Amino acid sequence: MEQAITKVVVVGGGFAGINLIKKLAKDRNFQVTLVDINNYNFFPPLLYQVATAFIEPSSISYPYRRLFQEKENLRFHMGCFIRVNPDQNTIDTDKGTISYDHLVLCIGTETNYFGMENVKQNSLPMKTINDALKLRNHLLLNMEKAVRTEDVAKKEKYLNIVIAGGGPTGVEVAGMLAEMGRNIAVKEYPEIKDLTSHIYLIDAGPVLLGPMSKKSQEEATKVLQRLGVHIVLNTAVKDYVDDKVILGDGKTIPTNVLIWASGVTGREVKGLPEGSVGRGRRINVDEYNKVIGTSNIYALGDLCLQLTDKNFPNGHPQLAQVAIQQGSLLAKNLKNLYYRKPLVPFTYNDKGSLAIISKYKAVADLPKLFFKGFFAWLVWLFIHIIPLVGFRNKVKLSFSWLWSFLTNDPTLRLIIRPDKEEAK
Ligand SMILES: Cc1cc2nc3c(=O)[nH]c(=O)nc-3n(C[C@H](O)[C@H](O)[C@H](O)COP(=O)(O)OP(=O)(O)OC[C@H]3O[C@@H](n4cnc5c(N)ncnc54)[C@H](O)[C@@H]3O)c2cc1C
Repeated sequence: MEQAITKVVVVGGGFAGINLIKKLAKDRNFQVTLVDINNYNFFPPLLYQVATAFIEPSSISYPYRRLFQEKENLRFHMGCFIRVNPDQNTIDTDKGTISYDHLVLCIGTETNYFGMENVKQNSLPMKTINDALKLRNHLLLNMEKAVRTEDVAKKEKYLNIVIAGGGPTGVEVAGMLAEMGRNIAVKEYPEIKDLTSHIYLIDAGPVLLGPMSKKSQEEATKVLQRLGVHIVLNTAVKDYVDDKVILGDGKTIPTNVLIWASGVTGREVKGLPEGSVGRGRRINVDEYNKVIGTSNIYALGDLCLQLTDKNFPNGHPQLAQVAIQQGSLLAKNLKNLYYRKPLVPFTYNDKGSLAIISKYKAVADLPKLFFKGFFAWLVWLFIHIIPLVGFRNKVKLSFSWLWSFLTNDPTLRLIIRPDKEEAK
């Protein structure tokens, strides 16, 4: 007897969702519907380059409908996921109800403000394209305000930039802003002297790049200090009121920009059985990424907590490669289920980690190998070009980087949404 077509609903078109869908796209026995709040996929590791006006947002984003062109078994539903109804095999979005045979949840994480309401209201996160554009406008508007004012205290407030979180994102933003201060701001804002010395990188832990090797941590600290970034360790941000960042040791930094790169928590999923949400609001899954206590609901990537991989007993790091590998394996396992073949449990193949620490310098921790500097930076560029969605984006981004490298002067410093924030 011929089997019916399987309806797979994928919620979230990030690394996990897109890799799963790409692998199912060629099999006509699957009808796949992607639900996403945006109509485009984007590439979070390069958001900081959008936020610092180094590359265009369109270089790291790609519309789903363009990706699904001429693929008969793929559908797109633009909408915000609200809840799952496991008894009915349906999900609700703000635009309607969709039924599924298998549901795959991969909506990732959201910024964690650790209960600090003022920080949540007034800081600038960096999780989405909107966040990055807002930050870019805010930084550029601040420069204009700093140029105009003669008031020393106000000038200080507009020029100071505080970055909370010394992980890869915080380090990358600090390095990029410091380089821009040195190379671009001096030419374009002659009124402002020494922009670099206004950048503060704060972390509650004892080192930068916490999860990376000691060599990477030391190199990042050395390079950023040489660029003039003030690194403040073992100190948490406690509050942000009246344009002042208040630190755990009682000190304050006057600033109009607090960039929050300090932590994430799983996005809330309503409707799952009790006990399915674990540490960091991540969803507990088994070795096949099936949500514990369900029969046809899966969670992937940053959103899930999988404790079955013997090399990662506390769960996997929330990284792109984990999401990509889980998405690919689940596609294979959904086919295995359909064709009645045995399922394969997930084990993470850790290929190492890289972080950019200034414009042309990076650190690389590969299994059994550490390297740094310009070569590590080239490897970083290469590795970040490969998973970008869309050939055009790969070419465009390579050209942007080459141009910036040759001219030392990217030309994207446009304030394009002044209606959102007045240049008072
Ligand atoms: C600034 C930044 C820098 C990073 N740098 C690196 C790096 O250098 N290397 C690395 O390995 N990892 C990096 N990461 C982590 C990496 O991006 C994540 O591990 C990866 O994106 C996780 O993939 P995912 O598919 O689980 O979720 P995501 O890629 O976050 O995708 C989630 C998707 O769900 C959608 N969505 C969210 N809420 C809803 C909703 N309610 N309804 C419908 N759709 C929704 C979103 O629009 C998005 O498309 C970085 C993350 C950030 C934020």
